[in-house]
Amino acid sequence: MRRLTAAVLFAGLMCGAACSAPSPSGPAAASPPAGRSPAPEAAEPSEAAGPEGGRRGDGEAPAEFVALREAVPGVREDIRYAGADNFTGMPVDGYQEPACLLTEDAARALVRAREALAGEGLDLLVYDCYRPRRAVAAFLRWAADLSDTRTREEYYPRVPKTRLFEEGYLAERSGHSRGSTVDLTLVRADSGRPLDMGTPYDFLDPLSAPDSPEVTARQRAARDRLGEVMDAAGFGRARTEWWHFTLREEPFPETYFDFPVALSSLSSPPGALD
Ligand SMILES: [Zn+2]
Repeated sequence: MRRLTAAVLFAGLMCGAACSAPSPSGPAAASPPAGRSPAPEAAEPSEAAGPEGGRRGDGEAPAEFVALREAVPGVREDIRYAGADNFTGMPVDGYQEPACLLTEDAARALVRAREALAGEGLDLLVYDCYRPRRAVAAFLRWAADLSDTRTREEYYPRVPKTRLFEEGYLAERSGHSRGSTVDLTLVRADSGRPLDMGTPYDFLDPLSAPDSPEVTARQRAARDRLGEVMDAAGFGRARTEWWHFTLREEPFPETYFDFPVALSSLSSPPGALD
């Protein structure tokens, strides 16, 4: 199914300016919301049930997983949880490298999305993919430490830390741990500059709901275009986070994996998708 070529490997390792592209400007100026939407990814019904753990052991990914940048040369990644530029303010447990690991089915679906965007001069920028259970546990430890409010102004200025769990911004399990869920945005293909979506990635706030009435028409249109292209590629969108999408026909709908985010977790040789 996959083959390795030097050109592909080289291209896959190149990242360019998009890797360090700045986030869109802060949230749109807006008055406080009248109501608060319930729960983001945490509230997916399928996350309420299902066995824990992977079928190959927690240290190794099933053969169905690929590294996106090797499977899809030229794809843009900025894996925030591998560094300190995220709502916890520190690298997150389980992210040994800034890599997007995904099921091959999800990677193929992202290829379809990129093809649909190419004619418009747009591309995708991927922020997060497979997320080990230990990373989700680290989020919960961060949430429980009420003395740590270093990132509040940037990431959750309107939702008290004590309510992030209750209001569904954080949860004990994430669809990302099943390997077919991605967080991403649209960028201009030439510059790599992200489109203005009305909030930065991971802004824990009602403003991040895709249909928030508080964003401008232009920001809403950008969210809608992302939603449309991902829908056509086979992904369902979250109700409360414009950046979050899950493959509808995911190969591991009930399995929450815990192998580290590292190329060494993969059991299959790297190579581009045919
Ligand atoms: Zn997500």
